[in-house]
This record gives sequence, C-alpha cells and structure tokens, in this order.
Amino acid sequence: MATAGGGKLFHAYIFEGGRGTDPLRAAEAFAKAVHCTGAGEKPCGHCLSCIKVNHGNHEDMLYLAREGNSIGVKQIEDLQARLRGKPFASDRIIAIVDEAERMTPQSQNKLLKTLEEPSGDNIVLLLTANAEMLLATIRSRCVSVRLETAPGVASDAFATLADDFALKLAAGGAYYELSRLVGTVTERDAAGDFLDALELRLRDALLAARAGERRAELSRFIDCAEEARRGLGGGLNVKYAFKTMILKMLS
Ligand SMILES: [Zn+2]
Repeated sequence: MATAGGGKLFHAYIFEGGRGTDPLRAAEAFAKAVHCTGAGEKPCGHCLSCIKVNHGNHEDMLYLAREGNSIGVKQIEDLQARLRGKPFASDRIIAIVDEAERMTPQSQNKLLKTLEEPSGDNIVLLLTANAEMLLATIRSRCVSVRLETAPGVASDAFATLADDFALKLAAGGAYYELSRLVGTVTERDAAGDFLDALELRLRDALLAARAGERRAELSRFIDCAEEARRGLGGGLNVKYAFKTMILKMLS
C-alpha cells in the first residue's frame, strides 16, 4: 500500500511513548495525514477529512479504549467486525487502540489474527507507554514508532540519580546503598521518570559493553527495571516495586 506522497504505509504500528509524550496526539496526526485529501503537505488541516479528524467525527477512524481496567475480547471482536466492513468516506479505516497494553492476552491473541491477515488497506495503531508489555507476536507484526520525550521533561535530578544508581550497581553496591538512593523517589510518576533515566543509562552501557558476561548482566538489569515499570503500571506500590527490583538485580 502506498501513499499519494509515495511513502509506504504498513498495516500496523506501535506508537510507544512514556511520560512527556502524547501517543494519542501523534497517532491522530499520523491518521490525519493518511486521510488528508488536500493537495501539498499533509495533513493540510483544512480539507473535509482533516476537519473531521479534528472534530473527532471522521467516519473511518475508530477509537478503542479500555472498559474498566482492560480491553476485552468482545471489544476486539467488535473492532474486527468494523475493520471487515468497507470504509465510508476514504480508502481505509484507521483504528487507534489507546493503552494497548490494557488488552488482555486473550484480546491480543484475538487481534493478532487481524495483524496477520489485514483486510483492505486498513491500519491499526497501537498506543502504549511500554511496548514490552505487548505480546512478542503482536510486536513482531507491527512497525514500531518510538516517541521522544519533549526536551526538558525528564528532570536533571532523575538523570543524576540514575547515574549514581547505575554506577553503584556496576560497582557491586549493596542493597542498602541502592535502596537509600531510590528512597527519595516516592511518587509514582517520579518513579517512572527515574526508571526511564535508569533504563537509558543501562541501554547505553549495554551498547558500549563488549564482554558477553557484562552484556548479560546489563540485559538482566534492564529486564528488572522493565519489570518494575510494569509493576508500577499495574498499581504496585513504589517502595515495593523498587525493593523487588533491587533484590532481583542483586540476585
Ligand atoms: Zn487535509
């Protein structure tokens, strides 16, 4: 499938962005550009299609959000029924699944069918703060778009703290040392920022590491940080999430 501009479009994308990013806005901008019927640069912002997207009433845009805590199988089935139908006002239906990580594993497996056998030129956009929380089978079927945090959002305090933590960790720091470092982070959002900063450092170190043993250790640290992030996302208490993370890192 190709756009008027010649750029290739895919059937499924993951828009991944943590705090400080706005995956929904990014996905809407993308959908608007795809749907835009104006001449020249897209989205033009004033064709009928752009206006409809702006007003949230474009016939060929579908939004899926969680009901309660999760996105259930029935919701995915409804979405699939719509995707099997014809677009009303354009060439394709674009479905946006907000907080895609809220899909239950059953929902994800259900959706997988659509990703494996897309209908028409339809596009599915999965939005998430953390793509790691989606099944690998889903991820492998999607083009990944990682949204960058606006500069200045991640505060220097967390960067410094993450530096200290990563250094202590590399130096074989004791539990109480690491625990004391993160003890100042008590807010959930702040904990997310700290984990972002920490992961960034660990990934940098991983890229730089040559020795297999060191690499394996760093990958494990990253897994632990990811797990803590998932725990926080799932409502885990900040103190407990950090405690578990550090214990696992040191085990
Ligand atoms: Zn337009």
